[in-house]
Amino acid sequence: MAATSSIEWTDATWNPVRGCTKISPGCKHCYAETFAERFRGVPGHPYEQGFDLLLVPEKLAEPLRWSRSKMVFVNSMSDLFHDQVPDEYIVAVASVMVRASWHTFQVLTKRSERLRDLLNSKLAFAAGKTNIWWGVSVEDRKYGLPRIGHLQSARAAIRFLSIEPLLEDLGPFDLSGIRWVIVGGESGPGARPMDKRWVRSIRSQCRAGKVPFFFKQWGGVR
Ligand code: SF4
Repeated sequence: MAATSSIEWTDATWNPVRGCTKISPGCKHCYAETFAERFRGVPGHPYEQGFDLLLVPEKLAEPLRWSRSKMVFVNSMSDLFHDQVPDEYIVAVASVMVRASWHTFQVLTKRSERLRDLLNSKLAFAAGKTNIWWGVSVEDRKYGLPRIGHLQSARAAIRFLSIEPLLEDLGPFDLSGIRWVIVGGESGPGARPMDKRWVRSIRSQCRAGKVPFFFKQWGGVR
């Protein structure tokens, strides 16, 4: 991906892995899949293989070449903790983030159990670095809320939640150890609606817990 991102809370994307598979309802309208599949079969295009998972080792060193400090979203077109990404490759990605300490990296996953297991073992060297923010996606109670618990039990210095697309009222949940929360609705064709009461509930809990709350967008409905 280019070194400029349209994601509002970050200013570059870095994709040392491309492609993914769906794992929960938040994936239903995955923008990365829609984008990647558009180029399936186009000879020479980076997404010639569509959304099939692909390691891109030639991208590994990219952040080391960006001299100006950036907020870097890691794997906007994949999920670093997908089970087809070998542990050794995830360690290589984390090593670059540790070395490129002038950037801030945001790593977001739906594979939160693997994130926890690796941060508490092979990724321990990166878990405590304050220039790497480890986050989980939370879209609903059934799939999303358990991911928060997994993140909280990972020995990460900085943890965040991306509550997007918010698909239902999450009810009360534990925010201990969480450094910031992003909330957003779904946009694009077939976007599922987000109720403002669901957002207010999260905002109130963030206020009570003194956790910074960033509201991204209402999505395609409002
Ligand atoms: S985990 Fe993320 S990248 Fe993978 S299919 Fe789901 S939304 Fe898309």
